[in-house]
Amino acid sequence: MPSKKIAVYPGSFDPITNGHIDIIKRGLAIFDEVIVAIARNSAKRALFSLKEREKMIHETMGVTKGVRVDIFDGLLVDYVESVDAGAVIRGLRAVSDFEYEFQMAITNRKLGKKVETVFLMSTEKYSYLSSRIVKEVASYGGNISGMVPDVVIKELKKKFAKKKVSQEIKDGF
Ligand code: ADP
Repeated sequence: MPSKKIAVYPGSFDPITNGHIDIIKRGLAIFDEVIVAIARNSAKRALFSLKEREKMIHETMGVTKGVRVDIFDGLLVDYVESVDAGAVIRGLRAVSDFEYEFQMAITNRKLGKKVETVFLMSTEKYSYLSSRIVKEVASYGGNISGMVPDVVIKELKKKFAKKKVSQEIKDGF
């Protein structure tokens, strides 16, 4: 049993939102260290590269004691073992998250017997928030303040400005 209680918080974090940050802070109240682990092989098509996502998390959480940021490949249970963590943290927003999360937790338990999954319920005000919603609002130039940290607002603006220019070039303007 490791002396430090370490938990892995895996996800795509494309990009990190205030909902994720809320879960990380809650995790830190329970564990000595929370490793925010960006999944390389996530099935979702990402807007930001792994490095960009890692940098935004660093800039947001880097100075917080007990937070580490990493990128991982392959099976989550193997990664969890490799960093000597005893638990996986997942956030639950609404009942709709439950079925998928339940399936994943059971599968991980079958694959790696020592790994516990700890579910943390999101704060009400973030329970509607997802990276997908943030990207959608930002892509139409909507106001995303209060949903993501400032550094993410800046990076989303840059990303969508670039996309707009390349679309305009495609359209022949
Ligand atoms: P998303 O589902 O927004 O793409 P991720 O795949 O990065 O986010 O999710 C990583 C983890 O964070 C998952 O357990 C997810 O349920 C949780 N999570 C995401 N957004 C929130 C939120 N607003 N409140 C609580 N948990 C969240």
